[in-house]
Parts: sequence; C-alpha cells; structure tokens
Amino acid sequence: MSKLPVYEIFGPTIQGEGLYCGYRTVFLRLAGCDYKCSWCDTKHARRISDAREILSEEEIIERLNSRAEQITRRITITGGNPCIHELERLVELLHQQNYKIHIETQGSIIPPWLYKVDHVCISPKPPSSGNITEILSFADFMLSEISKELKVVVKTGEDYTYARQVHSEYKSCPLILQACTDNDPVLVLKWLIEKASADPCLGDNIKILPQLHALIGID
Ligand code: SF4
Repeated sequence: MSKLPVYEIFGPTIQGEGLYCGYRTVFLRLAGCDYKCSWCDTKHARRISDAREILSEEEIIERLNSRAEQITRRITITGGNPCIHELERLVELLHQQNYKIHIETQGSIIPPWLYKVDHVCISPKPPSSGNITEILSFADFMLSEISKELKVVVKTGEDYTYARQVHSEYKSCPLILQACTDNDPVLVLKWLIEKASADPCLGDNIKILPQLHALIGID
C-alpha cells in the first residue's frame, strides 16, 4: 500500500475534452506536475504539496465507488501529470473492480504502468505553453497497442504548426485540436475551425473541439 497526493475526486460528470468528450466518467485528480504551462487551467494542483488529501489506493477506490456506483465504470485519472506517480497498484485494483482507466498526460514521462490502462490521452504541450513537449519523447509508447489519442491545445499560429508536426509524426492516431480557453475560447475555436478545415495536410483523423466544460462553466 502506498499513499497518493489527491487534489480532488469528482463526478460523475462528462469528459469535457478529447475523443471521449461527452461520455460520462468520474475523475481522480492527482496533485503534482513536471511542467508549468502558462495557460494551465489547473495551476492550483501543480505542486504535490497542493494535495488536499493523502490517500491510500484502497481509500481512493472507496471514494470512487461511492460516486461511480450504478452510473459509470469509467475513471479518468488526471492532474497535474499523473505519470509522475507510481500507479501500478492503483491500476491493478481498479481493474479488479472492473473500471476502465483513462489517463491524461502530456507525454513527458512514460511509466511502465501506462501500458496497462485502457485509454491514454497524450497532450503534448505546444510553444504558447512555455514548455514544449519533445514530439519523439513518447514515440515508443505510440507503437504500443494501447488505445490512445493525441490532443494539442492551440492558441497561436505557432501552436498550430506544432500540432501539424505531431500529426505528421503519428498519422494513424486520432488528433484532437483543442481551442485554448485562455482568453476568448469561441474566437479561437472559430479561427481554428477555419484554418484546419482548409488544411490539406490534416486528413480525416483529426477533430476540432472546444474544452466543453470550460465553455459552459462546469467542472
Ligand atoms: S502539463 Fe497540464 S497540468 Fe501540467 S502545467 Fe501544463 S497544463 Fe498544467
């Protein structure tokens, strides 16, 4: 048994981003991140010391069960960056409870347990974040059979160019272009739709989405 820094457990609600946007899930947000993105929407959970509670795997599962029971068996583990933590045992116990485990990470660290989850959203960080993720840092993981998607938050033209590079490197993986919600999300979304809709380099394995929960102001 180990103890993990938990910022919050919430839901059931909907996934507001990415390929599973709109699907119901419960969320486990772990505190701590190896990045400091300029437009981070979870700045409050970036340091491990931001954790509101330190819980064992069993305690986490008890909390999740009380929320998820009868409604969903999908759990999304997010952060911060959950990949800075040792989650091998949590993954094993969640699977014993028949949960489908989804992970959200920027792809800077690929721990062995990531190869045992059910879906991974890798969200490499573009130039406007101030922490550019090296596109090849998760290349080995992209060869795995784990269900996965790529998601790039786009705020600027430079970010868009970065997203295209990500797509050209990993064309077989669905790419989500997500309008940054830092300033005016609708304006950025419209700009992004216009730009991507006319781009012959992108093909049909991409989606353009807003950050739904941020757009309507829910968790
Ligand atoms: S990687 Fe995610 S959680 Fe970490 S600083 Fe960047 S946006 Fe925030």
